[in-house]
Amino acid sequence: MAGTWDVIIVGGGPAGSAAALRVRQLRPQARVLLLDRADFPRDKACGDGIAAHGVDELALLGVPDLVADYRPIQRLSVISPGGARVAATAARPNRVVPRKVFDARLVRAAEERGVRVMRHPVRALSAHDGHVTVDGRFTARVVIAADGANSTVRRLIGAAATPERHTAIAVRGYADVPEDDDVQLIAMQRDGWPAYTWSFPVGDGTANIGFGMLLPRLRATGRPGRQVLHGRLAELLPHLRARDLRAHHLPLSPGRPVPGAGRVLLAGDAASLINPLTGEGIYYALLSGRLAGEAAVHAAADPLPAYRRALRAALGRHLLTTDVLARLAQFPGFIDTAIDVAARRSEVFDLLVEVGLGAGTVPPPLARAVAARWFLNAWRR
Ligand SMILES: Cc1cc2nc3c(=O)[nH]c(=O)nc-3n(C[C@H](O)[C@H](O)[C@H](O)COP(=O)(O)OP(=O)(O)OC[C@H]3O[C@@H](n4cnc5c(N)ncnc54)[C@H](O)[C@@H]3O)c2cc1C
Repeated sequence: MAGTWDVIIVGGGPAGSAAALRVRQLRPQARVLLLDRADFPRDKACGDGIAAHGVDELALLGVPDLVADYRPIQRLSVISPGGARVAATAARPNRVVPRKVFDARLVRAAEERGVRVMRHPVRALSAHDGHVTVDGRFTARVVIAADGANSTVRRLIGAAATPERHTAIAVRGYADVPEDDDVQLIAMQRDGWPAYTWSFPVGDGTANIGFGMLLPRLRATGRPGRQVLHGRLAELLPHLRARDLRAHHLPLSPGRPVPGAGRVLLAGDAASLINPLTGEGIYYALLSGRLAGEAAVHAAADPLPAYRRALRAALGRHLLTTDVLARLAQFPGFIDTAIDVAARRSEVFDLLVEVGLGAGTVPPPLARAVAARWFLNAWRR
């Protein structure tokens, strides 16, 4: 498979597969090579929660039924760090699909569409006039780097890694739960805030459970990461016995994505596109992968400006919103107030879902109303 390709994609997670699917969808004759250091199916530490917005992306990519056999889940229960609760039905259903299944299905769909998939760990990159060479063997006009949280390609193009203050770490496991458990639970924790535990039932008598916190907060404990993460998970969900524990970093969005350099486009976690409020990244990976694929086809001679523009149009205001909210969320009282308001007003709950799982923004009057109530509560206390 050495030789010249139209597009080389590094990484076969949701971002890479979305890019591959989009390129072949727009240009069925395009020569697309997808390189991943792992063979599929492979596991990936994740909560496995796929928001309705992610399913919309699958439809755009021409694979609308990819997860249709998994149970739709609409009930959501969120507990704030101070104990405010909202239990409500989301406007649209999410799905919980183990990544071992989800990612393998996406890669297979890309293969079925004519993408060549190869196991290969990428280590080197060199830019030339009009093309990029990968590991001295593979050449393409455009490279899409979707190689995840610790992206090798991001480092190779000289982009700084996500700063620690914008990096979270989380552990996930699987546990047995009643088959009729159909509530996605997110319980935020004051101890170590911002931190939260979750239970996302798959629908087959198991649930993905986990615990995550900001990396600097974990370091501040002075204890081994494994001890802290595993210990907190066991302590917070004592009735569930977790197996297959696996942890990973989450590069949270700092407000502006790092789109790449020259003919190399970064997508998904490689571009730090995880929502800093919820840790959700699959939707943003699918979306950015699709947009990178579009830029690679429509602007092959100079893809970066086109990709940057498309990202800004799709997510610019949303990313600024989540950045501002993540700063305010440093004060747990702000989140307590927001959850309290969401429990009373269903339209606010729906809006929080859009901001936490989709590309939503907060209308200024609502932001002002929550801020005013927060100040009032703080004043009363
Ligand atoms: C514990 C945890 C829980 C989470 N829960 C959720 C959740 O419930 N919902 C949600 O939406 N998001 C969640 N996320 C975030 C989500 O997992 C990521 O945002 C998502 O996987 C990003 O997709 P990606 O395609 O960018 O990267 P990845 O899915 O990480 O895929 C990257 C791929 O690149 C390959 N690769 C890496 N380096 C190289 C190399 N040098 N050469 C070749 N291949 C390489 C890897 O093998 C991998 O297949 C969670 C994350 C964690 C850690």
